[in-house]
Amino acid sequence: LTRLYGPLTALSNVRVDVMSALVSFDRVFEVLDLRPGIAEKPGATPIPAGSGLIEFRDVRFRYPSAAEVSLATLEDVASLDHRENEEVLAGLDLTVEPGQMVALVGPSGAGKSTTSMLVSRVYDVTGGSVRIGGVDVRDATLESLRDTVGVVTQDSHLFHETIADNLRYARPGATEEQMWDALAGARIAGLVRALPDGLDTVVGERGYRFSGGEKQRLAIARLLLKQPSIVILDEATAHLDSESEAAVQRALAEALRGRTALVIAHRLSTIREADQILVLDRGRIVERGRHEELIVAGGLYADLYRTQFAELPSREMAVGPLAGD
Ligand code: ADP
Ligand code: MG
Repeated sequence: LTRLYGPLTALSNVRVDVMSALVSFDRVFEVLDLRPGIAEKPGATPIPAGSGLIEFRDVRFRYPSAAEVSLATLEDVASLDHRENEEVLAGLDLTVEPGQMVALVGPSGAGKSTTSMLVSRVYDVTGGSVRIGGVDVRDATLESLRDTVGVVTQDSHLFHETIADNLRYARPGATEEQMWDALAGARIAGLVRALPDGLDTVVGERGYRFSGGEKQRLAIARLLLKQPSIVILDEATAHLDSESEAAVQRALAEALRGRTALVIAHRLSTIREADQILVLDRGRIVERGRHEELIVAGGLYADLYRTQFAELPSREMAVGPLAGD
């Protein structure tokens, strides 16, 4: 059996490396608003400006597997790594009405991030459809999709360039005044103003290093410059200190106002405010409703909620099992 396990383990390690490389690749593309392997159809339709309606119809999704070919030769032991062929989303139906805030919650690995990535076309569905403003995202022009959907994830990428350059990815012709307005809205103008080179400060590994919370606020500033009608937010808070978290919260409140939002919610405060909570488990929506209803229903949501308080009695914000990714 060790003879079987040996090469398989080695292979899985390779797969993990390839996958993490792909993940960071995605992140860069997310900022550039380009997707590898996602092309615009000839004769594509623009999504109507200001669209807020998001519709998932029987959405199915399976990740393209980097090592599919090599693993196929190991079919006899495939049961050891069965997840490879698993459907990550198994028939998802959801509607986010314009201006609504919908919270996605669920255990780690349930498919929350995957769901959010299908809206901005980081990946395409393998079954069913995702529509924005009535247009299937696969039929939409990439420009209209990029203008309509703004994304803020847990680790926002900054390029080794000036702050102004980093902001102009969101809006190429942005004036300094517009950039300062966006930074103010994102609660980070004071910090940037205090830097000797201000907007011309070079950031990144070898430049000025922003903290995690500051980077998130810069990502929010990008969003405010871009003014998308839909915001996708992966709301991780675990790595933020509480002061930074409060600043990020205020910046987000500003960024979400008047927009349609699909939030992978980790904060109870966000979840309670949501117009609709969707509870995802193993690629399916198992419950939907508002906080109070779901507590009364006594299902998975109520479980997650209880566990969270059992683990963290004194802190409302950091949600244990809900934040497990
Ligand atoms: P959540 O955000 O709810 O924690 P994800 O959407 O990140 O869940 O992941 C759902 C499932 O898809 C998990 O089983 C995860 O291991 C798998 N998965 C996530 N990203 C990839 C990827 N790039 N390649 C293959 N499988 C992935
Ligand atoms: Mg996730």
